[in-house]
Amino acid sequence: MVLRSRRDVLLRTGLGTFALAVGRVAAQDGGTAAATDARAKVVEDLVAANRILADQGVLDAYGHVSARAPQDAGRFLMSRSLAPEMVTAADVLEHDLDGNVIAPPGANPFLERFIHAGIYRARPDVNAVVHCHSPSLIPFGATGAPLRPLYHMSAFLRGGVPVFDIRKAAGDTDMLIRTPELGSALAKALGPHAAALMRGHGAVVVAADLPHAVFRSVYTELNARLQAQAISLGGTVTYLDDEEARKAEATMGSTVQRPWELWRRKAMGK
Ligand SMILES: [Zn+2]
Repeated sequence: MVLRSRRDVLLRTGLGTFALAVGRVAAQDGGTAAATDARAKVVEDLVAANRILADQGVLDAYGHVSARAPQDAGRFLMSRSLAPEMVTAADVLEHDLDGNVIAPPGANPFLERFIHAGIYRARPDVNAVVHCHSPSLIPFGATGAPLRPLYHMSAFLRGGVPVFDIRKAAGDTDMLIRTPELGSALAKALGPHAAALMRGHGAVVVAADLPHAVFRSVYTELNARLQAQAISLGGTVTYLDDEEARKAEATMGSTVQRPWELWRRKAMGK
């Protein structure tokens, strides 16, 4: 209902109660339009996040990124099963927190959508999740060598990076998070942290929004590379202590829009 038709109704009828009812419908229409805009913005950012993570080498043909639906905390948005570099807005599906595809029905979702569902169920503070198979992270998940913040860009790792071992949760599997129960087990291992490694598989990285989730994913991968280099040099590695990391996280976390815009322009320009 648009203002013009509301005015027309008022002119025609002069009935106050009817005008009120029409006004309410107009307000609802306005709310629906705002929700549609918010969803479209998240879908647009989600497409960009897919392209950026592929461009930055965090995702290849595998891995995925999702965002909680802005209009409903019990839903999340993620592409159908597709290489991230190829994702467009038309590929984005809406899922519930059990991992069921709500819309469009019949679409082909990712096998490991339960990673995202489990984390959104367990972490109300999380609105964006990345699941990657980044090669630099695999040795840390396999050896027990803890991934720790080596420099200020990855200070968000300061709380530690837990390792999820699927064998302890479910015995011998194909290593994939393909059930709601495994999604819950992974979310439990993640706890309140920004990232968790998955032994023999990859990692999950979470944040309050897509730009922060992308930033953290890029710098978790880079930290792993730098940490392996530092360890291989043979000296004593000095990591950020808790206070340094807390201060650095506060500073760097406020600058995330800068790389997001740069990476977005590069990735979307391809
Ligand atoms: Zn995976």
